[in-house]
Amino acid sequence: MDILKTIKEKLRTNVTDASFEGANIVIYTKNELFFKEGEGKIKEIVNEIKKRIELRADQKILPDKETAESQIRKIVPEEAEITNIIFDAHRSIVLIEAKKPGLVIGKQGSIIDEIRKTTLWTPQIQRSASIKSKITESVREVLYANNNYRRKFLNQIGEKIYKGWSPDKVEEWIRITALGGGRQVGRSCFLLQTPNSKILLDCGIDVASHGKDKFPYFNVPEFDISQLDAVIISHAHLDHVGLLPYLYKMGYKGPVYMTPPTRDIAALLSLDFIGVAYKQASKPLFSSTDIKEMVKHSICLNYNEVTDITPDVRITFYNSGHCLGSSITHLNIGNGLHNLVYTGDHKYGKSRLLDPAVANYPRVETVITEATYGSKYDVLPSRTESEEELLGHIRTTIDKGGKVLIPELGLGRAQETMLILEDAMVSGKLPKVPIYIDGMIWDINAIHTAYPDFLSNKVRASIFQDKNPFVSEIFSRVSSHQERRKVIEGGPCIVLATSGMLVGGASVEYFKEFASNPENAIVFVCYQGVGSLGRQVQDGIETTKMIVDGKEEIVKVNMEVHTINGLTAHSGRNEIMAYFNNMRPKPKRVIINHGEVSKCLDLASAIYKSNRVETNVPRTLETLRLR
Ligand SMILES: [Zn+2]
Repeated sequence: MDILKTIKEKLRTNVTDASFEGANIVIYTKNELFFKEGEGKIKEIVNEIKKRIELRADQKILPDKETAESQIRKIVPEEAEITNIIFDAHRSIVLIEAKKPGLVIGKQGSIIDEIRKTTLWTPQIQRSASIKSKITESVREVLYANNNYRRKFLNQIGEKIYKGWSPDKVEEWIRITALGGGRQVGRSCFLLQTPNSKILLDCGIDVASHGKDKFPYFNVPEFDISQLDAVIISHAHLDHVGLLPYLYKMGYKGPVYMTPPTRDIAALLSLDFIGVAYKQASKPLFSSTDIKEMVKHSICLNYNEVTDITPDVRITFYNSGHCLGSSITHLNIGNGLHNLVYTGDHKYGKSRLLDPAVANYPRVETVITEATYGSKYDVLPSRTESEEELLGHIRTTIDKGGKVLIPELGLGRAQETMLILEDAMVSGKLPKVPIYIDGMIWDINAIHTAYPDFLSNKVRASIFQDKNPFVSEIFSRVSSHQERRKVIEGGPCIVLATSGMLVGGASVEYFKEFASNPENAIVFVCYQGVGSLGRQVQDGIETTKMIVDGKEEIVKVNMEVHTINGLTAHSGRNEIMAYFNNMRPKPKRVIINHGEVSKCLDLASAIYKSNRVETNVPRTLETLRLR
């Protein structure tokens, strides 16, 4: 069925053009009255075809930009603090950036409605960030600069989705292959296949690994990049998104679906990844051009937004509680034939930063869950206990006159630790020593403040009340070599630095300097990959070879070494079990990945015993048939 033709016929003369923007249908009209009052007619058609339709004014009837801009400024109250107005003439859209977007929208959308009817432009509202994020700005620039390309690209996606689209249930087979991440943490990547779709779930690298073990297997017969329809990214950690720019380098031109913060952070971490490669004198896998391609082909979805991505797959993202923008993907395959939930990484427990992972779905047959902390030994202590433990280690070290190094994943735990430290310092639970932030963390903080809607109620409320915890004056940013030198040579302090597993980045530089002094301490708060320096230190190595000032040296590890598992952004064993106990509806099958072998197997048998569901623990390269 030609869906655009059908709509055009139904609306007859009122439509000048109809096109797709991904799965959305956009129609343009030159009839001003119909644009203002045609809502009812559009609703009728939406009910009939069950697809979203947006009505916009044809370019020819739009007032010029200057006129529209002055009209907008007259309509919107000054308190909204508009920071930018950008016109996308190809799509008849005006993007309004404001510090208080709620005031641009108005009660029940009254103001946005007035803008639309007065200017005929279709307004979209965006929050301006309270910390300037260079990356969010450049991502937006790339998108604006490629407006025309995006329009064609999104239309092509729609044509593909609707070409084989049918309103009926499709009785066909479904298979899933682990290209990476089977019985291991790192290089997460699944290939989902139906007769109509080939979709990648995540596209990660194993940062702690070397050689070809770093990457998912793309040289298998069932993976053909030219046949790939879509990529879905659960969140922006490198073990889930690290190889995505490389796909574009290899010629992939299709869409990648993720949340807006995941897109921005993925771009930032990929750029950083290139930098780290140069520093280690190895050739980067991809260039910034490939990252730009990734951004150009991104289609961002918010939580709970349902969208078709191929003729027989419809997806919805839900909060996974793991890091900013992290999502659990619900895939409705074959129009109700099979419902697959891919959790990515999840936290079924409340943290300061985020709400717990969503456990209720419209329908579920199969769940793919992570098992990072999946073994029976991974029952996590309570958060209060863990926070007290962290503060205790810090106090003891500071009292001795030492320095505390906390290696952090730039995304997620770093912000969580900052919230803990800020609260402790304000309430007098910590002595007033400087807290230094080095590496990627600051830029990622900025992205957090750009997307407060993805944060927990409490943090969101403080950002809205201009009490942004990430800009608190207790944190000092380290942004040059000289500043880092000062921290190293200075007195007692707390240092939060990337990378989280001591594989490259600022944390390694501090480690070299702090390690030999028994007065200092290192506190691990995130997962340490097998093979990483962090894991070795955690396991108690006494010395390690490192490059210091260009020369290889033996570094003695005399500092105190602590690990706090209870602050992890992953569900612990108890949380994973609770997740499946509380999940509604009950799945029929659980597939376990993203965990060390023994943890995956242990979790599988526990889930089987308590839920009486089929469990699978596929090795990388194994294929399972879901239908
Ligand atoms: Zn993760």
